Amino acid sequence: MLVSTPQPPVRGARFPGRYIQGQGAIARLGNEAGQYGRRATVLLDNGVFDLLREQVDAAFAGSAEPEIVRHAGECSEKSIAALVASARAFGAEVIVGAGGGKALDTAKAAAHSLSLPIIVVPTIAASDAPCSALAVVYNDDGTVAYDLFLPSNPNLVLVDTALIAAAPARFLAAGIGDALATFYEADSCRQSGASNCMAMPGVSLAHEVARFCRDTIFENGVAALDECDARKPGEAFERVIEANILLSGIGFESGGVAAAHAIHHGLCELDDVHHHLHGEKVAIGVLAGLKLHGRDEEFEKIRRFCKSVRLPTRLADIGIAEATEEKLEIVARRACRAGEIIHNEPIAIDEKMVVRALAALI
Ligand SMILES: [Zn+2]
Repeated sequence: MLVSTPQPPVRGARFPGRYIQGQGAIARLGNEAGQYGRRATVLLDNGVFDLLREQVDAAFAGSAEPEIVRHAGECSEKSIAALVASARAFGAEVIVGAGGGKALDTAKAAAHSLSLPIIVVPTIAASDAPCSALAVVYNDDGTVAYDLFLPSNPNLVLVDTALIAAAPARFLAAGIGDALATFYEADSCRQSGASNCMAMPGVSLAHEVARFCRDTIFENGVAALDECDARKPGEAFERVIEANILLSGIGFESGGVAAAHAIHHGLCELDDVHHHLHGEKVAIGVLAGLKLHGRDEEFEKIRRFCKSVRLPTRLADIGIAEATEEKLEIVARRACRAGEIIHNEPIAIDEKMVVRALAALI
């Protein structure tokens, strides 16, 4: 009798086209953009517009012609349409987004709409979004409208570490929080066989990248923050920027996401947390995730690590001063919705378990 053996699943991974990182890297922007076309529309974040306008202009001298557009602040359908109109009128052949997450996402969405190449220049390292093929679109009132899944990752991610070192260290710490989740979530997906952002399990490289991301922040996180405080970015700083932006970006998209980000989504249901950064809430999600699995030894280790890199370890640290049963139930309900990424965990998770895990962080 013929016994059919189950076939291994089809696996995948995705990456940005190219990645460049270093102090003063922004000076290469014109040359890099010039490889895609002669005219570049550059969306520059309002927060860094006055600081960077001249540098960006100078970077294009002799290579391509830039149109520098000030980003109003939101990534909404309105701001995307405005950038599309401006780039079209200018005759842009490449789009550049420079600044924080919302400016980058606006530029990514506009480039997609115009079918043009996109160069992303993050000026903070607070999350792993820059390398991803994702833009979060907001309503005009600031609430999330939808996630826009793009067919490809940015053509180039160009990271000037001198610019990032000039930003507050709190952003760097938040990026470490987001990067911390990458290994635990990818590892959960590896164990459960859950799909990544391509709707298939990740190739083994995705899991190696996630592990490397974790090891890099463990080894260099504290020193990187010290270097940031002293405004003297050195080797540890460079390593952590690579982990926060590149390794975590590849690790989450290709390895998959799970409890930490599901709990983050749940926490965002509470008004209390709105002044806290994505990565800060994700760090709480990682700690709660370890409690879900009853991994007390690992929990203690990660709790100490979070403290050492200025990440929150208790609900009060992210604004939930009074963690009532009712609030925890709201978080758990959102985190455990049908089809939610928490169900990528290798064990069955229910709302009661999430409430208990969060209660351990009061
Ligand atoms: Zn994240």
